Amino acid sequence: MYEGRKTLTRYTIEQEHRHPHATGDFSGLLNAIATAVKIIANQVNKGALIGALGSAGSENAQGEVQKKLDVISNEVMVRETEWGGHLAAMASEEMEEFYPIPAQYARGKYLLVFDPLDGSGNIDINISVGSIFSILRSPEPTRPPRLDDFLQPGAQQVAAGFALYGPSTMLILTAGHGVDGFTLDRDIGAFILTHPQMRIPEDTREFAINASNSRFWEPPVKRYVEECLAGKTGPRDKDFNMRWIASLVAETFRILTRGGVFMYPKDTKDPDKPGRLRLLYEANPIAFIVEQAGGAASTGRGRILDVRPEALHQRIPLIFGSKNEVERIERYHTEHDHGLDKEFSSPLFNVRSLFSAQ
Ligand code: MN
Ligand code: MN
Repeated sequence: MYEGRKTLTRYTIEQEHRHPHATGDFSGLLNAIATAVKIIANQVNKGALIGALGSAGSENAQGEVQKKLDVISNEVMVRETEWGGHLAAMASEEMEEFYPIPAQYARGKYLLVFDPLDGSGNIDINISVGSIFSILRSPEPTRPPRLDDFLQPGAQQVAAGFALYGPSTMLILTAGHGVDGFTLDRDIGAFILTHPQMRIPEDTREFAINASNSRFWEPPVKRYVEECLAGKTGPRDKDFNMRWIASLVAETFRILTRGGVFMYPKDTKDPDKPGRLRLLYEANPIAFIVEQAGGAASTGRGRILDVRPEALHQRIPLIFGSKNEVERIERYHTEHDHGLDKEFSSPLFNVRSLFSAQ
């Protein structure tokens, strides 16, 4: 017998029925984002067949080479969400300034911040990429939007999510009541709830970090990774696996599914950059999702969601995943900052270190 499938449309309407004063704006916005995601998924999937791969021959606000699909995905997100009357303004990795909703459309009460194509360096090699978004409330929807409207700590996000364009196209969402995962059924063109209430195990034997940066790491990160590598013969007394997909969305989905810890920590590679990933449209939405799934997200020295942003494209160190591991890494930072980890700054340690700075 047919028991019905929960589409994203039904899910958002049911969510709205839980809030008696809801206006429909929120589900309208989510469905517009879902449409954008389906269009981007289609472009990513067709790839070379439609000439969508390769560089666009331009740079974004941060001096990064833009892929054609970065530009296409950004256009799709803007065009599919600007007309609905849900938004006051939006901001994107691919746009230097924020984008106020044009005057011909109604101005709404939300702000949308997004990374239209995350991991786009993976596009040409056919490895999973995605889109990340964060929804904030406009502080004063009656006046024209301003830059500082966007500079809200992540804890104030109304909702966040990401799409993953992998073997399946998935959409992962939180509105502050846990994390639900949807899979795109291309035959009917709808997202179906397939992963309700995802939970990150508190413990893990898997870590992810770009080890080519190891000589630039701070001692607490070196200490943590050393201990993982030492496995059964070290203080952790268990063997670890390492993963590095170099795609934040793919790493996040893996951690949501089976646990793990991801680190893009502060390092000394480029002293002008306090981290690699961007606070507003990468760290904040991922941190919100991870916390809602029972995990933790930190700079190493504090909760990501408590950071007060200072700029649209601000970068930040990001460590997230299984709660007990993230807390351990935070403790190593505290111990280092208080000079309590002598063992790990000693020459002895460096001699036996695989990732020695010397
Ligand atoms: Mn990204
Ligand atoms: Mn991107």
